[in-house]
Amino acid sequence: MDLAARQPLPIATLPASADVVVIGGGVVGCATAFFAARAGLRVLVVERRPALATLTTPASTGAFRLQFDNPDEIALVREGVDLFDHFAERTGLAGWDLAIRHGGYLFASLTDATLDRSRRLVERQRAWGLTDVELLDGDEARRRFAYLSPDVRGARYRAGDGWLDVKALAMGYATAAASPAGIPDATPGGGAAFALGTSVTGFRLSTDGSRLAGVVTDRGEVATPAAVIATGPFTAVVAALAGASLVVRPTRRQKLVIPELAAVPSDAPMTIEEETAAHWRPALGGALALFTDPTEPAGEPLDPVPASHAWSFGLLDPASDHALARVAPFWGAVWNGGAPSFHWYLQAGQYEVTPDRRPYLGPVLGLGPEGLHVNGGYSGHGIMAGAAGSRLVVDLLVGRAEPTRNPLRVDRPMHDREHDIL
Ligand SMILES: Cc1cc2nc3c(=O)[nH]c(=O)nc-3n(C[C@H](O)[C@H](O)[C@H](O)COP(=O)(O)OP(=O)(O)OC[C@H]3O[C@@H](n4cnc5c(N)ncnc54)[C@H](O)[C@@H]3O)c2cc1C
Repeated sequence: MDLAARQPLPIATLPASADVVVIGGGVVGCATAFFAARAGLRVLVVERRPALATLTTPASTGAFRLQFDNPDEIALVREGVDLFDHFAERTGLAGWDLAIRHGGYLFASLTDATLDRSRRLVERQRAWGLTDVELLDGDEARRRFAYLSPDVRGARYRAGDGWLDVKALAMGYATAAASPAGIPDATPGGGAAFALGTSVTGFRLSTDGSRLAGVVTDRGEVATPAAVIATGPFTAVVAALAGASLVVRPTRRQKLVIPELAAVPSDAPMTIEEETAAHWRPALGGALALFTDPTEPAGEPLDPVPASHAWSFGLLDPASDHALARVAPFWGAVWNGGAPSFHWYLQAGQYEVTPDRRPYLGPVLGLGPEGLHVNGGYSGHGIMAGAAGSRLVVDLLVGRAEPTRNPLRVDRPMHDREHDIL
């Protein structure tokens, strides 16, 4: 599919007004534009970079899973995966291909402690209606996935989890938002325009300061009664421009891309070590590999995000305490067979982490002016949870959903929570 031929052209001049301004043109901003255009709103997306979906979104692994530790996120991702599975039809983009693959997620345990934790989690998931997560003992896991180490004690596996092409997803949302006539059930009159290379620098409020009246950019001002902040790691920075204080802790995460490596089984699921959270999945003719370093400190939002090459050796060198080879020994053979003989490169982005590691969705309520909404803080899950999250934010904006019944409301009581391992 030729994405370049189909993505919406940026506008040269800002419109004087919009029904809603979406700030940020990553996957979450593009999804917000899609649902808002479908609801009949005139949308302006303002993106600081010269192209859509170029900051955190392309650094991601593009993966989705229902194996979560709470029913709210399971419901969000379930709704998103249903949209991904029917993307061309639901967006009206005939033939649009997300390269979706239900390759499965396999969490492999090397100790009885994590195996017990897995069993308890799967019991809770079943109680929440997620009944298709399988618990495998070590022998059964090796029978199904022959590359696993003899040290694997057991695993949890869900075949329906998987991954997709994040650029195709973001551009699909944007393309459908720009020409919403083909979207089934679209309310007439809506549509999105995209202002690229344009930074939001402030907000204009009503004279009594209670309501949003406009969005200020470095290319002029747009009058609007509503704005959605979808700026990923920059969510708190942009909210602060309107006096709204949100806690978001940007934390660097890196991804190793190995474009060609014949040793990687091309039909393997996303394979995660429960002890360390080091994980990989097949991609291109090789693999993507990641490690969520627990010692990485939260910091300021960054653009660009620097990569650190020392990090990749921790995954590849079998002597490392979080080597991929611990669960899948072929990685050790690859290294010992002459690591420099294959190409790899790194991408880095930041997780936009909230205190309870769940997103902020909807109006800022008492924290800022009426009309200001947030769609961020996905804490590393914005591809998979951003579809339903954006649908909910738009429903709240147009009055189709009730803000006080929203479990992910921005002013919810925050409890630091131990997060699942990815
Ligand atoms: C290594 C890694 C792996 C990941 N893997 C997965 C995964 O497998 N599955 C998953 O669901 N999630 C994953 N994630 C998380 C996912 O990538 C993010 O949650 C998601 O991309 C966030 O999208 P976004 O649109 O909110 O942010 P971004 O893609 O960062 O977009 C925000 C945009 O806002 C713009 N912006 C900022 N400030 C301004 C301003 N003042 N004015 C105008 N524009 C502004 C930025 O330029 C940027 O383009 C991963 C993340 C990383 C780093």
